[in-house]
Amino acid sequence: AIHTEEDQPEDLVPRAPIVTVMGHVDHGKTSLLDYIRKENVIAGESGGITQHIGAYSVKLESGERITFLDTPGHEAFTAMRARGTKVTDIAIIVVAADDDVMPQTKEAISHAQAAGVPIIFAINKIDKPNANPDKIKEHLATMNLLVEEWGGKIQSQDISAKQGIGVSELLEKVLLEAEILELKANPNKPAVGTVVEAALDKGRGYVSTILVESGTLHVGDYVLAGTNSGKIRAMHDERGKKVKEAGPSTPISILGLDGAPQAGDKFYVFEDEKEAKQIVAKRAQLQREQSVRTQRH
Ligand code: GDP
Repeated sequence: AIHTEEDQPEDLVPRAPIVTVMGHVDHGKTSLLDYIRKENVIAGESGGITQHIGAYSVKLESGERITFLDTPGHEAFTAMRARGTKVTDIAIIVVAADDDVMPQTKEAISHAQAAGVPIIFAINKIDKPNANPDKIKEHLATMNLLVEEWGGKIQSQDISAKQGIGVSELLEKVLLEAEILELKANPNKPAVGTVVEAALDKGRGYVSTILVESGTLHVGDYVLAGTNSGKIRAMHDERGKKVKEAGPSTPISILGLDGAPQAGDKFYVFEDEKEAKQIVAKRAQLQREQSVRTQRH
């Protein structure tokens, strides 16, 4: 059965924050995610982040970790929210200082606010001669979004994703926000999490990236996600390294599912394989009935 017992306070241990980067097209989301990924080649314990698995985890010099959803834009975020899963703890909203608060910036702000996720503004491209970060902050103020420098509560950081200026300060602000949130999870139970992405790989079969929310996932666990299930054959981290287990806030690529679940699907570990298969069959049946109904209408 799905593990539903309430966690006791003494079972909970701190976990890394999970961060999504959002913002208007061309404002620098990809550049920021790329810079952070590359920088961590240095701080990383065992080689750089080589695999694009849809999420990655970085370890700062302080030893603290931050997990990033590595899908720029808010498609994944929106998909997950539509499925009722809240994976993100903190949203970094990138705004180009040589541009303005744009429609997709506003959309990102509303998404984060609707999900109750704290925002940190990254005012990007400050290396550009025509950059005007104050103009952005002023515009945000007119939208009732007062940044700390302006006497408000929202954190913001001027950065250049291209040159790496201000990025470590931005990450410090993420950790500060995380501290306020007191993020915790119980690692000592069967894993529960969310699917970040999944696809069919020619040589390896179905590969899915899972973000473990609580509990610990092990090779050999029988898992259920959407209308797919299977026994985990192998797990790899974002460095391509084989791992045997993955705890809370860890993104992990898994082999062994019998199909590709959708981004935002919840996944669970089952002790009883037969029970998991029954649930999968029931879900598939429901889906078929639903599609017949929508075809009729
Ligand atoms: P995205 O659409 O939000 O993912 O934006 P990208 O990261 O693809 O960046 C769009 C363009 O802006 C690219 O040509 C980047 O090289 C450029 N860019 C991003 N960040 C900076 C920056 O800090 N400074 C400068 N000068 N250019 C940047």
